[in-house]
Amino acid sequence: MKEMPRVAVIGCGPAGLMAATVLSEAGLVVDIFETKGSAGRKFLVAGRGGLNLTHSEQAEPFAARYGNNAAIFKKLLTVFSPADLRAWLRELGVETFIGTSGRVFPKDATAPDILKIWLETLGKRGVVFHYHHRWQGFSQTGDPLFLTETGVLREFPASAVLLALGGASWPQTGSDGSWTAFLAAKGIFLEPFRPANCGIEVAWSEHIRTHFSGKPLKNILLRCGDRQATGDVIITTHGLEGGPVYALSGMIRDLLEKNSPVPIFLDLKRDLLLERLQEKLEQPRSKESLANFLRKAIHLTGPAYSLLREICPPEDLKNPAILAGHIKNLPVPIIKTRPLAEAISSAGGITFPEVNADLMLHKLPGVFVAGEMLDWEAPTGGYLLQGAFSTGYQAAKGLLKWLGHTPPQPPPSSRPKS
Ligand SMILES: Cc1cc2nc3c(=O)[nH]c(=O)nc-3n(C[C@H](O)[C@H](O)[C@H](O)COP(=O)(O)OP(=O)(O)OC[C@H]3O[C@@H](n4cnc5c(N)ncnc54)[C@H](O)[C@@H]3O)c2cc1C
Repeated sequence: MKEMPRVAVIGCGPAGLMAATVLSEAGLVVDIFETKGSAGRKFLVAGRGGLNLTHSEQAEPFAARYGNNAAIFKKLLTVFSPADLRAWLRELGVETFIGTSGRVFPKDATAPDILKIWLETLGKRGVVFHYHHRWQGFSQTGDPLFLTETGVLREFPASAVLLALGGASWPQTGSDGSWTAFLAAKGIFLEPFRPANCGIEVAWSEHIRTHFSGKPLKNILLRCGDRQATGDVIITTHGLEGGPVYALSGMIRDLLEKNSPVPIFLDLKRDLLLERLQEKLEQPRSKESLANFLRKAIHLTGPAYSLLREICPPEDLKNPAILAGHIKNLPVPIIKTRPLAEAISSAGGITFPEVNADLMLHKLPGVFVAGEMLDWEAPTGGYLLQGAFSTGYQAAKGLLKWLGHTPPQPPPSSRPKS
């Protein structure tokens, strides 16, 4: 009987586990390696705030979320689409639902539930997990090398290798980006890692820091240049966090890197047109304090009012027209983005010209890459996990092709219903 090729998947995040799923389903002998003592730590962190698995958006706008890499992702998303992801989860026994925002979440399962079933399924297929194995590049013969828990360097002979080592945010989950040195040494071009989907630092006064950190600015609009995002923003001791901030953080980061001005403005009353707001502010105020007047007239409360006091010159607050302008367009004195370690995701990593359409490294034939270690970024909304799953699927498919193995089964949503 012909012996099945033995392959090494390195990195037990969503991309690596998806690759192991495809490869083991195709009958290959799969060994999966992980530097930490358990799998999917960042996936579990993602699950803490409601696991947003993917999005229900149509293919074209979905792919556009990947910015400069939209064309590449348009293809990747046809190979393993959001529908495939949902169908595959259903095969695992996990139903999903589309939330009001169009985001897709698991129905009755948590991230630990999904991970548990997933790992069990892989285990039943014979996938061997090697924890506490830190990838250290390649040996003279081209096989992957690992530093084990006992400090011993282990070489693992493999017919092909699939790297899914993640980006560089939340390094405590294992994805610390330290692998870059081994690939750079092979002449592979990598963009430096930078924070994506991150908070921003603002020069708050002690008053704001002490009294308002943790408080939300509800239903605001954040504007940076020609882009805007809406939702709740949280004031923190360092600055601002929350969906709208994350959505614009890539643009803010890029402007800061170029030392360009970063024109960020808050619209604290986005449901009121400027003229209507001004009319309301022109009502007689009698002896009421400004804080009380704004609360009653336009429902502007504590944190938003304090930001106005903090940022606007005092005389501006006395003039309804100027005050209305500030409420609709309050400049935020930004300092910088929050550090990479805190970001939800990272930009940077292996650039796409370094890989072929199957995500194999041109300079290292037989070595495939997937997930956040590739240089792409996308907003929150399920696009990050979908990107990890789709690239994991495509790299595994490419690896099968490279080994001359039969292609994987059709993607889950195209399989006949059993
Ligand atoms: C707070 C937070 C919330 C998030 N929420 C969401 C969400 O709701 N929806 C969404 O789509 N995305 C979310 N994400 C992003 C998502 O979790 C990541 O995009 C995804 O985990 C990336 O998958 P990956 O497999 O590429 O990398 P990772 O999940 O980072 O996995 C890489 C693995 O490789 C291992 N590794 C690294 N270096 C080595 C080495 N040298 N040797 C061996 N192993 C190594 C790591 O330990 C890790 O297990 C969130 C992220 C964070 C931090």
